[in-house]
Amino acid sequence: MEKVVIIGTGCAGLTAAVYTARASLSPLVLTGTLPGGLLTTTSTVENFPGFPEGVDGFELMQRMQQQAEKFGARVKFATVEAVDLSKAPFTLTVDGEAVATQTLIIATGASHRHLGLDSEARLEKKGVTYCATCDGALPVFRNQPLVVVGGGDSACEEALYLTRFASAVYLVHRRDQLRASKIMAERTLANPKIKPVWDSVVTDILDVTQEKVTAVRLKNVKTNAESELACAGVFIAVGHVPNTQLFQGVLDLDETGYVVPKRGTATNVPGVFVAGDCSDRVYRQAVTAAGMGCAAAIDAERYLAHLHQ
Ligand code: NAP
Repeated sequence: MEKVVIIGTGCAGLTAAVYTARASLSPLVLTGTLPGGLLTTTSTVENFPGFPEGVDGFELMQRMQQQAEKFGARVKFATVEAVDLSKAPFTLTVDGEAVATQTLIIATGASHRHLGLDSEARLEKKGVTYCATCDGALPVFRNQPLVVVGGGDSACEEALYLTRFASAVYLVHRRDQLRASKIMAERTLANPKIKPVWDSVVTDILDVTQEKVTAVRLKNVKTNAESELACAGVFIAVGHVPNTQLFQGVLDLDETGYVVPKRGTATNVPGVFVAGDCSDRVYRQAVTAAGMGCAAAIDAERYLAHLHQ
């Protein structure tokens, strides 16, 4: 019987692991298919406090894991296939085997929604990115025309952020009206460096043969006119998909699938806690995920202490 199982090894999961391990709870930490989480897919992280010269995302996550293991966390490369949270202790099916646990911390993160283009996948990290704050300042994007895809708050935020580095930012949106909040939309459209490209979708990203981004192919959805737009980078901000499919019908989720905490990090199932991007549709930063992981660990620790009073 485990005291604490943590699902996910991004910033939230590994911070929860550090805290529960230091509390002598010997957490079992299950990685899922992307050990280290989304941060491992980016390059230099420049906004994690304590690293004035920046830190490689992969290295940051490795160091968090080492820190958790130093205090007794057991990190296992494993995928959770099913959960039974109907009664305590909870039962997880992990790579075909049953694992029983008194508490569960869900830190399964979220995935960037993709456009689904073959060229998008092949040029990822070669000019195609899903995070302006992570990658926007890279030398390859400086003083170059850049494309942002999407019309929501994220796309506006990405576009505004990129105006610091780019020569011009083309905001490609499939409609002629932004979905973003009024204030963000107004700020975005008022920025002289941002040029909206309305009613348009990206049909291809060039140039796979050169292994770098040189342009996007666009199609106007109203006129069907096709065109090419030269750029050095494509920032895709068409929303996120929380990794919560396992918990549908079990935990309270909002209409887009994010776990809705009841109080602090507690979910509607006592003993089950949540942290990080799978329950955060607003901030989605490494440091906020880490903070939520810390809070979930403290909540789980207190729940166990109360259970054994
Ligand atoms: P979002 O609001 O769901 O917007 C996604 C955008 O991508 C929409 O404009 C959508 O177009 C477009 N899109 C979706 N699938 C597409 C596809 N396959 N091809 C082309 N375009 C596609 O997502 P978000 O911007 O990530 O925001 C998520 C939540 O976080 C929102 O509630 C937002 O308010 C919040 N947020 C807030 C802030 C802030 O307050 N500063 C910042 C970031 C996020 P349509 O409009 O046509 O559907």
